[in-house]
Amino acid sequence: MTTPSFGSTLPWAEPSCHRKLRDAVRKWCEEHIVPYTEEWVEKGAIPIHLYQECAKAGLLVPIAAGKSIPPEWSHYPFIGDIPASEWNGFHDLVLWDELIRSGSIASLFIGLTVGAPPLRQFASKSLQDKIFPEILSGEKRVCLAITEPTCGSDVRNLATTAERSADGKCYIVNGEKKWITNGMFSHYFMTAVRTGGPGAEGISMLLIPRSEGVRTRPISVMPGPLSATTYVTFEDVKVPAEYLIGQAGAGFKQTMINFNHERLWAVFQALRGCRTALNDAFEWALKREAFGKRLIEQPVVRWKFGNMGRKVEALQAWTESVVWESENLSDEEAGRLLGGVTALLKVEAGVVAKSVAEECLKIMGGLGLTKTGQGSRIEAFYRSVPSLVVPGGSEDVLIDLGVREALKLSRQAEKARAKI
Ligand SMILES: Cc1cc2nc3c(=O)[nH]c(=O)nc-3n(C[C@H](O)[C@H](O)[C@H](O)COP(=O)(O)OP(=O)(O)OC[C@H]3O[C@@H](n4cnc5c(N)ncnc54)[C@H](O)[C@@H]3O)c2cc1C
Repeated sequence: MTTPSFGSTLPWAEPSCHRKLRDAVRKWCEEHIVPYTEEWVEKGAIPIHLYQECAKAGLLVPIAAGKSIPPEWSHYPFIGDIPASEWNGFHDLVLWDELIRSGSIASLFIGLTVGAPPLRQFASKSLQDKIFPEILSGEKRVCLAITEPTCGSDVRNLATTAERSADGKCYIVNGEKKWITNGMFSHYFMTAVRTGGPGAEGISMLLIPRSEGVRTRPISVMPGPLSATTYVTFEDVKVPAEYLIGQAGAGFKQTMINFNHERLWAVFQALRGCRTALNDAFEWALKREAFGKRLIEQPVVRWKFGNMGRKVEALQAWTESVVWESENLSDEEAGRLLGGVTALLKVEAGVVAKSVAEECLKIMGGLGLTKTGQGSRIEAFYRSVPSLVVPGGSEDVLIDLGVREALKLSRQAEKARAKI
């Protein structure tokens, strides 16, 4: 571990890289977000104007882009004074780490970070030219709608239909989507629909604008209301045919590729949640006295911290190695090689987060169960752990996927060796 030159000096409370970007995002968040977080959580909503301020501050472009910024976006504002051409996966990690550190704001961008990439990677240039100026300026918002009431993990069996109209000019969409993050305030739904027969080959991705026949209602979920989790109903919704993303029938593959960044993002969330919890638990353990000495003077308490520190640093190292690999592989190769490992990394992040949240909560005693004051960030993190474990691929399903992908790569390697 190196001592960071910014933020907390407590053990494992801060990762260390890209100080310039980290400082810029942290300063912006500490001015615009941190003082208001408790108020927003109490009210159950983040003010609508804040999104446009985020656009002006240069947050939306890198969030929509992920690990690389297209040159045609370089005229948009950009946080951290980093040239678009230099932006990479590690900047993405740092940006998210800081947004998550500031608390509630991160939930405002979930729709953008999971809904924009299919548009950028697979949509026609004319659709991109129409939609991106609206969403990168903060005027409109997008979310990702895959899950349905009758099908979540089993994406192949989704039931929402998009039938081509008789004149071929539009699709008519009917169906329901459930647990759609940011759906309440989104103008566009990046939606997996069935345009063909059963199974994966019949699935396409369609960008559905909020229009006649689209209805949304909130779902109350464990992590709280700020992420605006939504039940969406499509009833005879007419969508222009040119809003199809890429080829008809390519939607399953596009969805799977898109999952990789979503899963990495969940890992970023777990890492920062652990570090914040460690910071607050350390502060408490250094001052709280019980049985005649400070908590930190109890070997059992130090043993807990040591175990948490090793788990968090191992998770950080594995995460950075996956970010580095995705940085150095083509999109196609990254899709082929990193799906399984990213699934297992997300599982590990959930396991580490669960254990760190629980141990930190116990170190805080009653404060760990208290929604205000010194234990409040640990209490919130503890409650948020299931939302790292289920959305974006449930733990059990991802472990199985990790093994199947590893076996697939092993068979490919065997075949390649046999040819030599
Ligand atoms: C807060 C929240 C936000 C969400 N945001 C979005 C969003 O923005 N967009 C979106 O499209 N979806 C979203 N989701 C949906 C989320 O991705 C699904 O809930 C998740 O994929 C699991 O699907 P399911 O709930 O249908 O569970 P199911 O698929 O019914 O699975 C239930 C359980 O059964 C077990 N299981 C199922 N299949 C297997 C298997 N093959 N092997 C072993 N065990 C298995 C697992 O334990 C699993 O957890 C969100 C969900 C939540 C709770």
